[in-house]
Amino acid sequence: MNLPAQARVVIVGGGIAGCSTAYHLAKLGWTDVLLLEQGKLTSGTTWHAAGLVGQMRPNRNMTRMSKYGIELYATLEQETGLATGWKQCGSVNVARTPERMQVLRKQLALARSFGVECHEISPKEAGEKMPVMRTDDLQGALWLPGDGKANPADLCMSLAKGARNAGVKMMEGVQVTGVMTEQGRVTGVRTAQGDVRCEVVVNCGGQWARQFGALAGVNVPLFSAEHFYIVTGRIEGMHPDVPVMRDPDGFIYYKEEVGGLVMGGFEPQAKPWKVDPIPADFQFQLLDEDWDQFEVLMTNAMHRTPCLETAEIKMLLNGPESFTPDGNFILGEAPQLRNYFVCAGFNSAGIANSGGAGRLIAEWIVGGEPSTDLWDVDIRRFGGFTGNRRALAERTGETLGLHYAMRWPRQELETVRPLRTSPLYDLLAAKGAEFGSKNGWERASYFRPDGAARPPHTLGTPGWLPWMVEEQRATRETVAIYDQTSFSKLLLQGRDALAVLQRLCANEMDVPPGRMVYTPLLNARGGIESDLTVIREAADRFLIVTGSAQTVRDLDWISRHIEPHEHAVLTDVSPMYSVLSVMGPRSRELLSRVSPDDLSPEGLRFSWTKEIDLGHARVRAARMSYVGGPGFELYVPVEMCRHVYLALQEAGRGLGLRDAGYYALDALRIEQGRRAWGAELGPDETPWEAGLAFSVKLDKPAAFLGREALLKSRGQPLRKKLVSVVFDTPAFAWGGEPLVIGADTVGDLTSVGWSPLANACVGLAYVRGALAQQPHEGTPAQVELWGEQVPVRLFDQWPPKPGKA
Ligand SMILES: Cc1cc2nc3c(=O)[nH]c(=O)nc-3n(C[C@H](O)[C@H](O)[C@H](O)COP(=O)(O)OP(=O)(O)OC[C@H]3O[C@@H](n4cnc5c(N)ncnc54)[C@H](O)[C@@H]3O)c2cc1C
Repeated sequence: MNLPAQARVVIVGGGIAGCSTAYHLAKLGWTDVLLLEQGKLTSGTTWHAAGLVGQMRPNRNMTRMSKYGIELYATLEQETGLATGWKQCGSVNVARTPERMQVLRKQLALARSFGVECHEISPKEAGEKMPVMRTDDLQGALWLPGDGKANPADLCMSLAKGARNAGVKMMEGVQVTGVMTEQGRVTGVRTAQGDVRCEVVVNCGGQWARQFGALAGVNVPLFSAEHFYIVTGRIEGMHPDVPVMRDPDGFIYYKEEVGGLVMGGFEPQAKPWKVDPIPADFQFQLLDEDWDQFEVLMTNAMHRTPCLETAEIKMLLNGPESFTPDGNFILGEAPQLRNYFVCAGFNSAGIANSGGAGRLIAEWIVGGEPSTDLWDVDIRRFGGFTGNRRALAERTGETLGLHYAMRWPRQELETVRPLRTSPLYDLLAAKGAEFGSKNGWERASYFRPDGAARPPHTLGTPGWLPWMVEEQRATRETVAIYDQTSFSKLLLQGRDALAVLQRLCANEMDVPPGRMVYTPLLNARGGIESDLTVIREAADRFLIVTGSAQTVRDLDWISRHIEPHEHAVLTDVSPMYSVLSVMGPRSRELLSRVSPDDLSPEGLRFSWTKEIDLGHARVRAARMSYVGGPGFELYVPVEMCRHVYLALQEAGRGLGLRDAGYYALDALRIEQGRRAWGAELGPDETPWEAGLAFSVKLDKPAAFLGREALLKSRGQPLRKKLVSVVFDTPAFAWGGEPLVIGADTVGDLTSVGWSPLANACVGLAYVRGALAQQPHEGTPAQVELWGEQVPVRLFDQWPPKPGKA
């Protein structure tokens, strides 16, 4: 076949991701698709995968994705006539420690909530399913009958056949060497055999995706690590129906193959494959054996399956696979280049995930936007800084190991830190700050008292709770300072800036200069793409403040909606401003000690801002509070942040001033029912469901994106509704737990924090079905916490407004 001169879509890479993308584009009717593979189909990483396919993912949408993948794999052979090796043998996940068992019980509750069949079984029952396993030291296990295994290369070829049957063209031995662009859009690809003009490029380049992305200025932050499994000869007791088995405390997994075992795993300290660039001819190749690196897995495996001591080891396979900085794969349209899509970085779960991921990326390409909330895997979660190769190599050494390692609530990644720091970083560190990291920014989580050590991780009540409660107390009773420098800040300027915002924002944006407006940004479905706080600094200048993680996403969303004829320029000014939030009943008193300006309720009304003197600096003060109660946000030029902070500290003597961190901030905003994007708000939630009707102005003069959808759904029964959840006991929850009434799962907790007002945990949760239709003034329910049911009450409004019970 000669290289076609043009195709509507060119897919780069013929592994399972590329073939699944081609298959699903064809299913959606896009058949003018050309897949180019530099070697042979499957010859990159896909051919040597172990082939475990599980359904459970950390959230509902990702689990839906993998469930769909399994359904596809189960029927593909029938459709294409090509075998896939799919076998629904189920899987057993075992726990060695009581804490791991608690984590498994949470997974069990989530599985039920996500519609995945899952059962708790005893060590004895686990041993009956996997006869070669030692069980005397186990706490228990989970049994997922719907999981299975496949032959990765066969599966990939079967997807390829399905795509070809529908008209997709595939060419092997064609390396794509460049991407042609015009005015920020893809127009074609270059190859040694000639150019191909196209509308859309999909980078399915596996471990090559980063270097291939870089050719077009697209950031695909992934890095390869050496990844291992052994293959044994026949072992008595092993047969094709033996389930896949995972022993995460030993970092190992097993599957049956040809009457023997495939055993591999995720060693805690992985070995990045530091080859740059990865050669194009690394096809059907493997890396050298490294028994030293594999030792930790082998030792644990010999403990779990003593038969390995005498089994014939046929090979130790070492194949590179790409990992990402947060362990999730990378999907979506690149913010740097229109019509350039990425589907790569599968963190050793590309066989399990590609069936669903291929469909999601195909829907995104055809529909022009994601069909559902894909934030966990969205390419826009990564800033440009994440492409640093040294950082990627170091992080990959860590993230591979996290696959099976015990993950504690609020446990932070440790590598590549500190990277992005506020000017106050050293000062706060010296005062005992324990930092967490968001989008590369170091942010104080809480402050340790003098001489206190960092408390150990726990699933129960954390050791830092009493310290955080003191920070909360200062916020409610005196005054506290929060360093929120990590906020994303975007400046929109120009004659048409207002028109752009009016078209994108659900709230009324034509407000007088100085005013601050909270507004959702909606998609056409009425879902919440982001929520912004916008300060109108001048008639034609708006400072947009948004979540720390959303810089690239919001920059991309807003700029792609600026029409070519419009005079509006959007700039990321995040590094130019620090934000210090001065919160609490004595905040005004504190500020008046360092500022001569009138900050009285009349001098600066709620939701208004103005420039003030503060010490020797000039800052913009906003009367706004995310934690609830009186307070001011200060927008401070970065170079004056230290001065302003020290001036406030000096002036705060005798006022009960305290430094406070994000744990306190988050818990207080939850207590006050303030929503956070990424938790309560996302593309799948409408303002009606999220209780944000107050921020939607359907009758403002300008029509805005999402308005039609909101008009249609207004007054209709809600699919789900956000409520406050108040715990009846001192149990400590972390968020993400299912909400149940009796045996029925009725919702999910989106966020949880400790409330000083309730002297218990409070949370926010979406309830579904009938519960979404009825009012709640204390409806009894339970939270599934590590396998225990904890009593809670649900409220539409909590704390109750004055006048209510
Ligand atoms: C040891 C090991 C065990 C694993 N076990 C499992 C498992 O049990 N379950 C599971 O789900 N996953 C597993 N995986 C992970 C899985 O193999 C990968 O996630 C998956 O194969 C990735 O598929 P892909 O299509 O993204 O990449 P690849 O299969 O590598 O395909 C990318 C293709 O792009 C081509 N390409 C790159 N650049 C260009 C270019 N410029 N022009 C043309 N072509 C190009 C490459 O040649 C390559 O063929 C395992 C991986 C390893 C290494």
